[in-house]
Amino acid sequence: MKIATLYRSRLAQERGTVKKDWGGRVSVALIYPNYYQVGMSNLGFQVIYGILNDNPAIVAERAFLPDEEELSIYRRTDQPLLSLESLTPLLKFDLLAFSLSFENDYLNILTILDMSKIPLMSKERGENYPLILAGGITTFMNPEPLANFIDCFLIGEGEVILKEFFQTYLDLPLSTVKKEETLRILAIEVEGVYCPSLYKVEYKGDGLISSFEPLIPSIPSRVKAVRQVPFNGPLRRSRIITPFTEFSDTILVELSRGCGIGCRFCAAGYMYRPPRVIEEEEIFTSFEQILAEKNSIGLISPSVSDVPGIEKLTSFILDRDGEFSVSSLRANSLTKGLIENLKRSGQKTLTIAPETGSERLRRVINKKLTTEKITEAIILIAGTGFFHIKLYFMIGLPTETGEDIKDIIGLVKSIRHYLIKESRGRKKIGRIRLSINCFVPKPFTPFQWFPMDTVESLKEKQKTIKRTLSVEGGIGISFDVPKWAYIQSLLSMGDRRVGQMLLTTHRNNRDWKRTFRSSDINPDFFVYRARDLNERLPWDFIDHSIQKSYLKEEYNLALASIESPPCKVGDCTRCGICT
Ligand code: SF4
Repeated sequence: MKIATLYRSRLAQERGTVKKDWGGRVSVALIYPNYYQVGMSNLGFQVIYGILNDNPAIVAERAFLPDEEELSIYRRTDQPLLSLESLTPLLKFDLLAFSLSFENDYLNILTILDMSKIPLMSKERGENYPLILAGGITTFMNPEPLANFIDCFLIGEGEVILKEFFQTYLDLPLSTVKKEETLRILAIEVEGVYCPSLYKVEYKGDGLISSFEPLIPSIPSRVKAVRQVPFNGPLRRSRIITPFTEFSDTILVELSRGCGIGCRFCAAGYMYRPPRVIEEEEIFTSFEQILAEKNSIGLISPSVSDVPGIEKLTSFILDRDGEFSVSSLRANSLTKGLIENLKRSGQKTLTIAPETGSERLRRVINKKLTTEKITEAIILIAGTGFFHIKLYFMIGLPTETGEDIKDIIGLVKSIRHYLIKESRGRKKIGRIRLSINCFVPKPFTPFQWFPMDTVESLKEKQKTIKRTLSVEGGIGISFDVPKWAYIQSLLSMGDRRVGQMLLTTHRNNRDWKRTFRSSDINPDFFVYRARDLNERLPWDFIDHSIQKSYLKEEYNLALASIESPPCKVGDCTRCGICT
């Protein structure tokens, strides 16, 4: 099989692919650094593809990390990595734009550049190589571990920053202006643009950052993240439909962005503030159009049950012979009407996230959810119909003790009890599926100063949960792997020096252990060290409008197990985002 044949058969299954003539246009390879199926399941990636191609001056094509089958063909033929639409080597594009959602994909960026025969380090790429851009939630938080590889980060929400970036970029006399000058102009003129080569970082003897300064006075010393406020239409939706995604042949739509609860561990909750919803009328109009194309709609929101008028919106889909699925629900805001609609739509599993077993720890993380509310939600679900229940928990959270782990076990047993009790008279009882994840500290959250729990301790906690709950019937458990949580923590919380570890690991065939053995820098410095509230953090140069004093206040409230109020947009200026 040839790559061309493979890619053509993939394209033949898609609807909505854009094929543009290259003549006179700026070419952008939009890259998702993971497999096709993962990238195409990501609504953000799809939306960016649409925004780029809506601009008549741009031709955007997609590229992904090759899967095993593709990889063996590329290796055998030694051809450079190709774009999906026109089978053009990535090296031939004007711009490569990486869309990043997960830190553990960072190594894949280096694989993709290597396979494209493009030098990995920015400083080794001359004028003839494409300009390399990156954006996405992980880069809003902390782009520094990638600083040596990326020419230009776009820090902010795609709808705004891409428009502003290309307004300036397309006006540049690109055939005469040098790359260095291009970066300088972009950094000065476009809010949200961060070009790492234009900044210098210095470290103190203890390894902490002493200064982070622009090399040229006209470059802003802080980079302002940009947001789409107000959040008006049209509804962001999948541009391409393909059977090869997690949500096969479903059109995903974003009903709201940002969450007002304020969970202290949650990066998305802070990065996408303020909470915003699309106007109801706009949603109805878009649903009409989508249902004329496809009967399956995937509703995306930090919590679908929190969307105003959700019962009416989902009834609208069902009444037109459509079906819908939801990304997540909040136990506090579940209603019988919504569960009825989920049942009518054929949804078999409902997901809720207690996060922890104890009331105390739920107050620490600011979850605003009591055990009583969780129980009520389970009774409501089981009383309405047959559903499997998926529960998200997190272990290794700040202040967690052995008692909190026991409380997870106790809560799951109690949920099982209510599920059986409320399912009386039914032939089958739903199963419980636990997804137990390790806490990874994230920048720009109140938990950014806490260390990660140790890999050994997390493994012990996993064993305790598994030993106790796997003997109970009807409960399945999946754990994430603590050593990967450690790497994620390193890439979330690291500074530019972590980039060297990434490069070494790439050269070591992805063997992190070998890298750590030879590294001058101890990775535990970034992962296991509690940070001082006054230390300079690697991401402090990004201005998200969230006041550091607010994050510190939330950190102290967490230590005192005290919750803070949720967002009240229009009537609150607490964190600094709404003015
Ligand atoms: S200012 Fe208040 S309402 Fe606005 S995002 Fe911050 S906490 Fe939420």
